[in-house]
Amino acid sequence: MKFTKIYIEITNICNLNCSFCSAPKRKLGSIPLDKFEYILKKIKPYTKTIYLHVKGEPLLYKNLDKLLTLTEQYKFNVRITTNGTLLKDKINILKKHKNIKQLNISLEAEQKKKIILKMFSIHVSNFLKISPLF
Ligand code: SF4
Repeated sequence: MKFTKIYIEITNICNLNCSFCSAPKRKLGSIPLDKFEYILKKIKPYTKTIYLHVKGEPLLYKNLDKLLTLTEQYKFNVRITTNGTLLKDKINILKKHKNIKQLNISLEAEQKKKIILKMFSIHVSNFLKISPLF
């Protein structure tokens, strides 16, 4: 069986606290790189595309560059959904990894909506610079 995409939650930690987002019932944490690689090996026969988001803010992941390098090594296409608050800090890492095919910026993170919208306008030039990758 093949799947169009498989979601992997790399962290359930978030830097926002949106009212519509249910409070985490699980212990907060991020996936260790060796476990992430193990999952990549296991799912390789089943999909070409992984989605690095379920709950949490994926750009908070400490070793994001190494994690994305692993996704390249295993030849996955990557899609990411972010609340956008860390794009300024992480844009150079994201631009390095040509296998990122889609970057969704959620403007529904209502808690900091004004800040996010402001950041969106600040970083729109960066989005345009990387947009040919998507
Ligand atoms: S940004 Fe996403 S994960 Fe974070 S609190 Fe809001 S809805 Fe939940």
